[in-house]
Amino acid sequence: MEDILEEKEILIPDEVPVLPVKDLVVFPSMILPIFVGRSISLKAVEESLEGDKLVLLVAQRDPTTEEPTPEDLYPIGTICQIMRQLRLPDGRLKLLIQGLTKAKIKKYTQDSPFLKAKIEVLEDLAVSEVSVEIEALIRNVREQSEKILSLKGLDYDDIIAILTSIDDPGQLADIIASNLRFKVSEAQTILETLDPVARLRKVNDLLSKELQVSTVQAQIQSEAREEMDKVQREYFLREQLKAIKRELGEFDEFDEEIEEFREKIEKARMPKAVKEEALKQLERLEMMHPDSADANVIRTYLDWLVSLPWRKSTKDKMDIKTAKKILDEDHYDLEKVKERILEYLSVRKLNPKAKGPILCFVGPPGVGKTSLGKSIARALGRKFVRISLGGIRDEAEIRGHRRTYIGAMPGRIIQGLKQVGTNNPVFMLDEIDKIGADFRGDPAAALLEVLDPEQNTNFSDHYLNVPFDLSKVMFITTANVTDTIPSALKDRMEVIEIPGYTEEEKLQIALKYLLPRQIKEHGLKPEDIQIAPKTIARIISHYTREAGVRNLEREIGAICRKVARKIAEGEKGPFKITPQNLRRYLGLPKYRPEMEVEESEVGVATGLAWTPYGGEILRVEATVLKGKGNLMLTGQMGEVMQESAKAALSYVRSRAKLFGLPENFYEGIDVHIHVPEGAVPKDGPSAGITMATALISTLINKPVDKEIAMTGEITLRGRVLPVGGVKEKILAAARAKVKCVILPVQNKEDLAEVPPSAKRKLKFIFVKNMDEVLEPALKIKLKK
Ligand code: ADP
Repeated sequence: MEDILEEKEILIPDEVPVLPVKDLVVFPSMILPIFVGRSISLKAVEESLEGDKLVLLVAQRDPTTEEPTPEDLYPIGTICQIMRQLRLPDGRLKLLIQGLTKAKIKKYTQDSPFLKAKIEVLEDLAVSEVSVEIEALIRNVREQSEKILSLKGLDYDDIIAILTSIDDPGQLADIIASNLRFKVSEAQTILETLDPVARLRKVNDLLSKELQVSTVQAQIQSEAREEMDKVQREYFLREQLKAIKRELGEFDEFDEEIEEFREKIEKARMPKAVKEEALKQLERLEMMHPDSADANVIRTYLDWLVSLPWRKSTKDKMDIKTAKKILDEDHYDLEKVKERILEYLSVRKLNPKAKGPILCFVGPPGVGKTSLGKSIARALGRKFVRISLGGIRDEAEIRGHRRTYIGAMPGRIIQGLKQVGTNNPVFMLDEIDKIGADFRGDPAAALLEVLDPEQNTNFSDHYLNVPFDLSKVMFITTANVTDTIPSALKDRMEVIEIPGYTEEEKLQIALKYLLPRQIKEHGLKPEDIQIAPKTIARIISHYTREAGVRNLEREIGAICRKVARKIAEGEKGPFKITPQNLRRYLGLPKYRPEMEVEESEVGVATGLAWTPYGGEILRVEATVLKGKGNLMLTGQMGEVMQESAKAALSYVRSRAKLFGLPENFYEGIDVHIHVPEGAVPKDGPSAGITMATALISTLINKPVDKEIAMTGEITLRGRVLPVGGVKEKILAAARAKVKCVILPVQNKEDLAEVPPSAKRKLKFIFVKNMDEVLEPALKIKLKK
């Protein structure tokens, strides 16, 4: 203290060099080291050392300013004396300085090569007697400082000792302000406050704020430390436990499990990145309590990682001749389809790296799409896996849920691969036409990534969170229709259409494939069952109505089951199944082939409808009742079909004379058109000519030829327009034993796609207008 008083007697000149400091406010009576490196500062120091060793230290407003000008500096600073200097190897100077007194800059007299200014020394205001209030303030400040220092964990004994020894409020404020590292702007306001009590109050306020922040900070730190400590403590305890058990010759189950996982990870031949992830997770598992929920999540995850076929593949057999043999062995006919499959395989054989399109089999259920896929797999010596995409709306079904979800699982692609256990199976994606999209993301987009050879080398499943290479997988898709396949997907696929079968074809398939297979599957011997082709034909016509052969196979299976039971019960075969005793095996016929029983009728015309499950026969009935010229439509027709019925009626009205009807014939009647059979979805314009025919038949009281079926859209003027689904419709007509089909002339080309066996059974009449329909259908001659 005395020292400082002595220093005060130093004569302060009214012009001194100015030394800007970056992030520090120096208070009078402080002794502290500072480092000087900037040229502007070094020059100022040199000047001062040459003279009375005095220099004015002022703080910068912004610590990042490298070359401060007068505006960048606060106007009040502290005159300091340089007590010692040391040149550092890097050119900087280390100074020990002592603050003497505050001073205000009156005017800068020089700004280069260093700053120099005229100054005015500032004195603290006098403190009136130490009042009780000041005493309280001093104590409070001391206490708060102690708390802060202890919260910060600093070694504070020396400082506390100094704090308790000082009773002067101004000095106390200065010491605290320079030791507690307030912000520069805050420290500067304290420096500038010349009233010692006011200054101490400000310090007190800052301390309260600082104390709050420090408390919260300390709390956060201690919580984090506690958490860490807990995990670590458990880990160490477990390690100790393990050591003890080892000592005792006991082996921990958990330990064993971890070791097992480690071995499995080594054996799984994972890519490097995956292995690293697996080991990382294993390490995490090791740290956990074996029974915790988190440990279970990691276990399941590791199970998935170690059981996926990262590098496991089957070797391809690429012999096209054997492939053909296998396809023929498993499938009747389907020549065109087999040809295209063999071509596709040949291309893959010649250029295995080619990223060819994905095959897509399109056709009604039960036509052999899945079994073709299986045959391809068999021909290539690959494994086969199939998943259904029908009704999928959630992207996560394809790509999995993130592990953070409870019960998360990988998507179906990864599930499928785990199931087959090789990374190059034939992977069939069924019902690709039936995926949807909603707020849970677009599964089609995820599928695109699966099927795209550019992207699928790094397929990322959300659950796995590590990439899986799908490029070796041979994807095949199936669909009932092509229209609803998202177009981006359709672009990547080579569509191969498989139409339905005719009755003859079904009979051949049943005799050559389905029956022998079912007999074998039921553990029977071929001689146990005697079933004549005509019995099978009856099953086809009376027990199934389908484009494929799925139900047929099921019915044959049912017969085999019954026979197997009889044999098991001790009855002796062979069992002969005939059309007469079929009922005993299969119950009452499920369908009645309409065309066989019905006569040609007035007001009933046969139409042909298309459904995703193949073609269908559609009976259209029309009748007239007494009334007021209304049109009634029943049978749950769709809107387009209703409009088409109205068009048919308008056509009849406009041509009344041609049919020998009075011009106002409709005034006293209501017309009722009905399409029975609930199972067939009824919409579209293609029943137009059928409805018109039924209507005219009933109006002129002439029956419609029962052997004729027809399809075509009608215009108001009686023109007949082309329709879709001709191939399936013709197959349906052939199945229903129709003899003749009336088609719009523009559909003639579609006949090329129809199997010859179906074409052979039918006569075709191609028409441009309604007259050409009515003449054969109603067996009338119309005056032109
Ligand atoms: P999809 O996948 O098209 O619905 P499936 O492949 O499941 O049809 O076929 C149903 C059953 O019919 C299978 O047992 C299949 O072997 C058999 N099948 C279908 N078409 C033929 C065919 N042309 N030759 C032999 N069997 C066939």
